[in-house]
Amino acid sequence: MVFVFLNPGDLFFIGLDPAAPLGVDQQWGPAFWLHSAYAYLLVLITSLLVVDLLVRTNRALYRGARASKSATSANSGRRPTESAGLVRLRQHRTRHDCHVLKTHVPGESRLRMYLAEEAWPDLESYLTEESLAIVPLGSTEQHGPHLPEGTDHIIAEGFASAAAERTGYLRTPTINIGVSPHHRQFHGTMWVEPPVFRDYVESFTRNLAYHGIDRVIFVNAHGGNVQHLREVGRRLRDDGTIYAIEWMWNESIPDLVDEAFAQNGPHGGPKETALIQHLRPELVHEDRLAEARDGGLTSFDEATMRQHGARTFYDAIDNAENGVLGDQTDATAAKGKQLFEAASDQLVDLSEWLAAQPFADLMPKDHV
Ligand SMILES: [Zn+2]
Repeated sequence: MVFVFLNPGDLFFIGLDPAAPLGVDQQWGPAFWLHSAYAYLLVLITSLLVVDLLVRTNRALYRGARASKSATSANSGRRPTESAGLVRLRQHRTRHDCHVLKTHVPGESRLRMYLAEEAWPDLESYLTEESLAIVPLGSTEQHGPHLPEGTDHIIAEGFASAAAERTGYLRTPTINIGVSPHHRQFHGTMWVEPPVFRDYVESFTRNLAYHGIDRVIFVNAHGGNVQHLREVGRRLRDDGTIYAIEWMWNESIPDLVDEAFAQNGPHGGPKETALIQHLRPELVHEDRLAEARDGGLTSFDEATMRQHGARTFYDAIDNAENGVLGDQTDATAAKGKQLFEAASDQLVDLSEWLAAQPFADLMPKDHV
């Protein structure tokens, strides 16, 4: 910035003061030329100052526009406004459209997005258009003598992959170890303490927000994770970072699950057996289904293992000697396929619904 200090008294000498014009005898003398040069210099400096000011103002406006654009499209995880085109795209995109795209545009980067297998420029393309991520979570814990310990995370990953493939929404890697201390008496069960699990899930979910994700579906297949995922979802929503919800496949189709099996079971029962028979049949010990039923607790409902209304059990082994519940011999791969497809439909619809919600509507309401 250039500063010019001008003594107001000089105005008199260069003849700009109308109250005291220069005399005729002074018009062509040295003082006249000196004062004229001074006046021209003053005009020149003033012009330069005006030009300088205009250029600076323009630059500031340009920087402001760029800053607000990058804040909208990049890392805040919150998109104050969405283009009308994107909203329409979300509303009109159907499963049918995706199949058409898949057929006619092989390699289309918005389809079958699995984060761990994508290169960052392709993720950039996704993240400039979409802000939803599907996160599968399960456990690695005993599931009786007939099912693999990875049952829950295999199921969660199966649903998340199917939904990602059908919708084109991004799926993240699977979280394989959850909150399972209540299965610790059985060989191989792995678990982390609840606060560790909550902090871990919260941390990577916040980091998804750094990339522009502002809504997440926790596709969860382990009951022990539920309350902790709900707590993480609350924390993230309360501070306006991200909207994350927990989804369990069997809760999305409760009537179908009840109809499919006479003696259901919340853990290692026929519903989980049927799903693994469908998803990973080679991991099911078909010859141990009767053993699983006979060594466990076949009939289980809300009243089981309660005393005067209080739940008296803490660990799976308190209820079932072999760790599982229900009648596993009722499970078939065909039932597993039917349940898997019905619950996948629910997850696809949930994804489309969530993607179509304005972000502000997902955030906590104002104080009344
Ligand atoms: Zn399970």
